[in-house]
Amino acid sequence: AEAPPAMAVPQAGEAGLMLLRRVGQVDPESLDDYLAADGYAGLRRAVEMGPAQVIAEVKESRLMGRGGAAFPAGIKWESTANQPATPRYLVCNADESEPGTFKDRAILEGDPFLLIESMTIAGFAIGAARGYIYLRGEYPRAYRLLSNAIERARERGFLGVDILGTGWSYDLEIRRGAGAYICGEETAIFNSIEGYRGEPRSKPPFPFEAGLFGKPTVVNNVETLCNVPLIMRIGAKAYTGIGTEGSTGPKLFCVSGNLVRPGVYEVPFGATLGQILDLAGGVTPGRKLQAVLLGGAAGGFVRPDELDIPLTFEGARANGTTLGSGVVLALDDSVDLPGILLRIARFFRDESCGQCVPCRVGTVRQEEALLRIIRNRQDAAAKGQDVDLLRDIGLVMKDSSICGLGQAAWNAVESAIDRLGILEESR
Ligand code: NAD
Ligand code: SF4
Repeated sequence: AEAPPAMAVPQAGEAGLMLLRRVGQVDPESLDDYLAADGYAGLRRAVEMGPAQVIAEVKESRLMGRGGAAFPAGIKWESTANQPATPRYLVCNADESEPGTFKDRAILEGDPFLLIESMTIAGFAIGAARGYIYLRGEYPRAYRLLSNAIERARERGFLGVDILGTGWSYDLEIRRGAGAYICGEETAIFNSIEGYRGEPRSKPPFPFEAGLFGKPTVVNNVETLCNVPLIMRIGAKAYTGIGTEGSTGPKLFCVSGNLVRPGVYEVPFGATLGQILDLAGGVTPGRKLQAVLLGGAAGGFVRPDELDIPLTFEGARANGTTLGSGVVLALDDSVDLPGILLRIARFFRDESCGQCVPCRVGTVRQEEALLRIIRNRQDAAAKGQDVDLLRDIGLVMKDSSICGLGQAAWNAVESAIDRLGILEESR
C-alpha cells in the first residue's frame, strides 16, 4: 500500500534552509529540477578535490553522525579508506524506525537525488565498489522515488562506469527492510543484506575493518550523508561556522506530539528545546506541557522547566540527556505517562531479536514490573520493590547487552523515574 501523504515540512520554501531547501520546491522525480537547484555541484567539487582531500574536508567540518550515536563521519571514512582489504562498501542506513523519528523520510521523499549525490561523493572518497541503501520497508513512496532517482542518475552518467571522467565505477542498490526495528542496527543490516537473520554482530570488529561481506564498510545515516554536498559546496571552514563548536552544521528535528504544527524542522545547531517547541507553534491551546521525550524511545524525558536545554550534542550531554535521532515529542497534561512508559517497554520487548539473554529476558521483566507498578498504585511497599527491580534489570541490560537496543531499553523508564518522578508519584 502507498504510504500516507508526504511528510509535513512546515518550513518548506523558507529562505536559509540548507538540508531541506529543495523539499517541496522541486519535483522529486526530476533530475533536471535537481540540477537546476545546485544538484551535483557537490560531486563536481569532490571530483576536483580527489578522495583524500574530500575525507580531509569532511573531517575538518566536524560532521557528526545524525542517526543517533553522533560518531564523527570523517573518522569513519578515513579508517575505512585506510583499510588494505578490498572491495570497500558504503551502506546508507535508511531504516528509520526509532519511534518518533521521521526526518530522513522528508529527504527521501522530497529530495531523493540529494541522497544519491551524497552517496556518490562518500563512495568516491572511500573508494567504494558499491553502495547499498537499506530502506525501511514501510517507506514505499521513498522506494519508488529512490529507484527512479538511481535510474535517472545512471542514464546521465552520475552512476555506473567512469563517473564524471574519473575512471571510477560505482553503482547503488536498494535493499528493503521487512519491519524489524533491529534491522536498523548497522551489523544487523549486514546480515540482512547478506541473506541471514537480521541479528546484530558483536563489535569489534567494527564495520570499518570487517563490515558488509566481511569487507571494510562505512555505514552512515541518511541525514549525515546529506550534509556532505553542502560541505563540498561551501567548504569545511564555512560549515563549521554553522551551529556550535561541538555540534557543527544544520540539524533536522522530528517534532511531534501535542503541538500546533508538528513536522520536520531544520535549525542550525544551538537552538534550545523551547525554541524548537515555539517553531512548532507551542503546546495545544488550553493545555499545559507535562514532559518532552527527547531522542526517541531510546532517549529520555525532560521536564517543562528544562526547556532552556540547548539541542546540541554537548548541551544534551551536559544535561544528562541525548539528542538521539532528533526526536522532540511533546506530551501535554492529558497524556497518561505511565501508559506511555508501558508502551515503550512493550516496544522493546517486541523488537528484541532475542539473541542475548540480558535483553531477551530483561525487556520482558521490565514490562512485567511496570505493569505491576501501574496496577498496584495503592501498594507502596510492592511498588518500591518493583522500582528497585527495574533499576537492577536496567543496569544489567545496559552493561551486558550485545547492541544498542538492549543497552538503551531502560533509558526512557530510568529518566521517567529519576527526572519526572513518575513512578515515585504513583507509590
Ligand atoms: P555506536 O556508539 O555503537 O556506534 C556509532 C558508530 O560509530 C557506529 O557506526 C560504529 O561502527 C562507529 N564506531 C564506533 N567506534 C568506532 C571506531 N573506533 N572507529 C570507527 N568507527 C567506530 O552506536 P550505534 O549502535 O551504531 O547507534 C546507536 C544509536 O542509534 C542510538 O543513539 C539510537 O538513538 C540510534 N538509533 C537510531 C534509529 C533511527 O531510526 N535513526 C533507530 C534506532 C537507534
Ligand atoms: Fe538482540 Fe537485544 Fe541482544 Fe541486541 S541486545 S543483540 S536486540 S537480544
